[in-house]
Amino acid sequence: MSLTTYRRKRDFVHTPEPRGRTGRSADRRSFVIQRHAATRLHYDFRLELDGVLKSWAVPREPKAVVGEKRLAVHVEDHPLEYGSFHGVIPEGHYGAGRVEIWDRGWWEPVGDPRAGYRKGSLKFVLHGRRLRGGWALVRMRPRGEGPRDSAKENWLLIKERDAPAPARKRAR
Ligand code: MN
Repeated sequence: MSLTTYRRKRDFVHTPEPRGRTGRSADRRSFVIQRHAATRLHYDFRLELDGVLKSWAVPREPKAVVGEKRLAVHVEDHPLEYGSFHGVIPEGHYGAGRVEIWDRGWWEPVGDPRAGYRKGSLKFVLHGRRLRGGWALVRMRPRGEGPRDSAKENWLLIKERDAPAPARKRAR
């Protein structure tokens, strides 16, 4: 819930990114996906929860095809204002490169989003322009025994069915 890591990585005198303050949630929780042409092109997937944007860096373009999975590396919380940021982060600064808004809209959690986020199993419905319907973010089991760094965990972004499948009659 803190923007400390976000701020520590950036020099707001030189980057056009917002410094941010912890905001208050509107009725609808926003989401945004920013296409970020940094050293490695990736898609920053951000969901508003508890006044910040929970964030994952997705190395490959998300695809709205049921069952498609994308690695999503959990990164630090970003301020809500970051959701409307686009522009160029200058050379020599954290995340240098062009940021474009690839999709945005709002999201609806399926179940309790805080519990899901803590547990590492977040299910939700996206209402964006490119991405819609049912999705899930699922934390992968950490490899090895080392100390857990929650800011660098690997999750999977998965396209799910848009509605629960109707109960099927079983043939006997
Ligand atoms: Mn990024």
